[in-house]
Amino acid sequence: MIKTKQTEIVIVGSGAAGLYCALNLPRDKQILLVTKDKASRSDSYLAQGGICVLRDEEDFTDFYEDTMRAGHYENNPDSVEIMIRSSKAVISDLVTLGVEFEKEGEEFSYTREGAHSKPRILFHEDETGREITSRLLSAVLCRENITVVENYTMVDLICDKDRCCGIIGHDEQEEYSAIVADYTVLATGGVGGLYRHSTNYRHLTGDSLALAIKYGIELKHIDYIQIHPTALYTEREGRKFLISESVRGEGAVLLNSAGERFVDELLPRDVVANAIFAEMEREGSKHVWLSLAAIPEEEIRSHFPNIYEHCLKEGYDITKEPIPVVPSQHYFMGGIAVDYYSKTSMERLYAVGETACNGVHGRNRLASNSLLESLVFAKRAAQQMGRDYLPLTQVPTVTASSEDYRGYREHYKQLVLDAIEKEKNSHE
Ligand SMILES: Cc1cc2nc3c(=O)[nH]c(=O)nc-3n(C[C@H](O)[C@H](O)[C@H](O)COP(=O)(O)OP(=O)(O)OC[C@H]3O[C@@H](n4cnc5c(N)ncnc54)[C@H](O)[C@@H]3O)c2cc1C
Repeated sequence: MIKTKQTEIVIVGSGAAGLYCALNLPRDKQILLVTKDKASRSDSYLAQGGICVLRDEEDFTDFYEDTMRAGHYENNPDSVEIMIRSSKAVISDLVTLGVEFEKEGEEFSYTREGAHSKPRILFHEDETGREITSRLLSAVLCRENITVVENYTMVDLICDKDRCCGIIGHDEQEEYSAIVADYTVLATGGVGGLYRHSTNYRHLTGDSLALAIKYGIELKHIDYIQIHPTALYTEREGRKFLISESVRGEGAVLLNSAGERFVDELLPRDVVANAIFAEMEREGSKHVWLSLAAIPEEEIRSHFPNIYEHCLKEGYDITKEPIPVVPSQHYFMGGIAVDYYSKTSMERLYAVGETACNGVHGRNRLASNSLLESLVFAKRAAQQMGRDYLPLTQVPTVTASSEDYRGYREHYKQLVLDAIEKEKNSHE
């Protein structure tokens, strides 16, 4: 038998969604936040482009329409409205926590990405995710009621009929333990680690989805997987480096090997990615090219310093020459089905961020809507848990042993990939 710890709320994952959920829970609750790797190794840290916000009331209709059009109108309209209407409050929280967004004088500066009809994206150089998530993490580490445990991997849920009563996991030494909790929040991010070419961290392998499948927790749109049109092409294995869409928003163009443009670069991601695949097939090439020649050198260095440096290390000076790019797995629009408060179909179990699906993104996510969606709905989950809090009256006995999880990594990976394939086939 494995040892058991107890807490009031357990959160799994230290990305923007998990951290912001923790910060919005009542301060009189004991929260244990566990995370598979170092706390800072989340996709939230990698976000380059920025975070959308409703600039003013006049932009509501366009922001809403851009989100719906990008999602092929398969979005949940109420989720979209909640996200947009809540955006200013979330940005204001972030600023209070010390997040610095680019400004011109006293006013915010806004950038634009593909499929946005106007600039409405706040950014911090090309490291917006790092700026936001590191501030959230610092705030979490200052809270006395929150304990962060790194290098702890959730491998199971503790389920008692239709209620979730915590998780089972192991530390770096593969020592297993159970964490019994009144409420459990899954904030484990996307599925990129299951794919060979992905911009995601390799340890993001959709573990929550495997557990949802195991326990019959409702899933939604799990075959809606976003391919980002422009990751830097390399022959090397491992995570692919993203070239943010805002580079195209600022004027970069896609070229084939003859140096000709072949697509409107600001169309939705899926359309641009498909056009690149078609061009690569037509030419028999492994990548296409992205030219930043239309962007002044000064702007490249000030707005995209991280991309500039990274490409330079890879042997490309983006101020002088085009770079090879290829579409890569990037984002998971589907996930564990949740309501407007991020509650799953299982009692006492919430899911937030990329792991969850509240329908905001429909079939295809609009650029820079995911950090916003993660934060808005993580806060709503926290507020609902705080409002309706009821301690567990009966705590189940955990009988599992570490032997039960032998070979779980491969098994979970296959479970998720098979489920995605099955869902995809059901539409064909
Ligand atoms: C390169 C890149 C650029 C992006 N740019 C933007 C952008 O400009 N704007 C935007 O809005 N979005 C962007 N995104 C998307 C956005 O960053 C993510 O969708 C969002 O941050 C997801 O946040 P999250 O908290 O749900 O997950 P993550 O930030 O991925 O965090 C998941 C956490 O769960 C932990 N975890 C996973 N499995 C387990 C387990 N079994 N046990 C314990 N812990 C576990 C991980 O260690 C990690 O801490 C980008 C994504 C990438 C990859």
